[in-house]
Amino acid sequence: MENLYDVVIIGGGPGGLSAGLYAARARLKTLIVEKAKVGGQIVITHEVANYPGSIPNATGPSLIARMLEQMKSFGAELTKDNIIDVDLTGKVKVIKGEQGKYHAKTVIIATGAVPKLIGCPGEVELIGKGVSYCATCDADFFTDLEVFVVGGGDSAVEEAVYLTKFARKVTIVHRREKLRAAKSIQEKAFKNPKIELLWNTVVEEIRGDGVVQSVVFKNTQTGEINEHFADEEDGTFGIFVFVGFDPKGDLFKGKVTMDEAGYIITNEDMKINIPGVFAAGDIRVKSLRQVVTAAGDGAIAAIQAERYIEHEFTE
Ligand code: NAP
Repeated sequence: MENLYDVVIIGGGPGGLSAGLYAARARLKTLIVEKAKVGGQIVITHEVANYPGSIPNATGPSLIARMLEQMKSFGAELTKDNIIDVDLTGKVKVIKGEQGKYHAKTVIIATGAVPKLIGCPGEVELIGKGVSYCATCDADFFTDLEVFVVGGGDSAVEEAVYLTKFARKVTIVHRREKLRAAKSIQEKAFKNPKIELLWNTVVEEIRGDGVVQSVVFKNTQTGEINEHFADEEDGTFGIFVFVGFDPKGDLFKGKVTMDEAGYIITNEDMKINIPGVFAAGDIRVKSLRQVVTAAGDGAIAAIQAERYIEHEFTE
């Protein structure tokens, strides 16, 4: 059969790359299919200080580059393709991409999650014109300008600290009066003189003609509305949005068991409701979405795939 792999891994983030490494080391014919750039969410992170053994000042992209090199050195293949359909029901699974069709004895779903939008008027229209979801990518554009960071989790607070290296002032806008971020991350923000906090506040609308020129805030306690305008000299400012993630599982809806939010349900062996199919990383229901947990998931999924193949495909 053409393009028959032992394992096809859909998604090239840390979960997928780790699965690729373990599968290739198990001498399985392994393919990772990634539609865009490998790395997933971590490539938009400027500093990865909590991955065990990470070198000082390790960036998301540098960590991913090392993972990729390591995985390829054991023979895993990587291809760029956008998967448009999957048939996971047969003994041999069929994965259809825009560029080709792949057959696999096992499939590991590692499609991850994407940043959530605030969902307010003006947001989508002004993406790339002042609205951003990636500080590593866009911080530089806001050198000496004012920046707002929306959200109160680890991402928002960490990226706010990073943005102070560029922006003149960074205001974290949070809908409650208590941050969700880890205490160690909060401490860094609280002692940074460039950071201010705007509590109990949500963004109602982002306005601008070609670039962000103003933002409308609403106080969640009092209902008070307040429009903040760009400094006349600056003409614009930045709005960085870090309000969580949505799972990238549309392709599998109705085919695999998911929770209400669309995350795939697995057992602790990364098995899902279909034999020979596994899920790893941020796409699965789990309590901690981190590079280290995605990498752990990928390793487990690959080893379980190896066992499944041994059991189901060996005469
Ligand atoms: P998160 O933990 O889900 O936090 C999302 C934040 O956005 C929360 O503060 C939430 O407010 C707020 N929010 C949600 N919807 C909103 C809306 N429509 N308008 C305004 N605010 C809204 O997301 P995250 O910070 O991206 O983190 C995701 C996962 O990655 C977490 O497990 C996190 O620990 C992990 N992470 C870890 C690190 C690290 O350890 N270095 C770095 C980045 C991310 P509420 O608090 O009121 O719910």
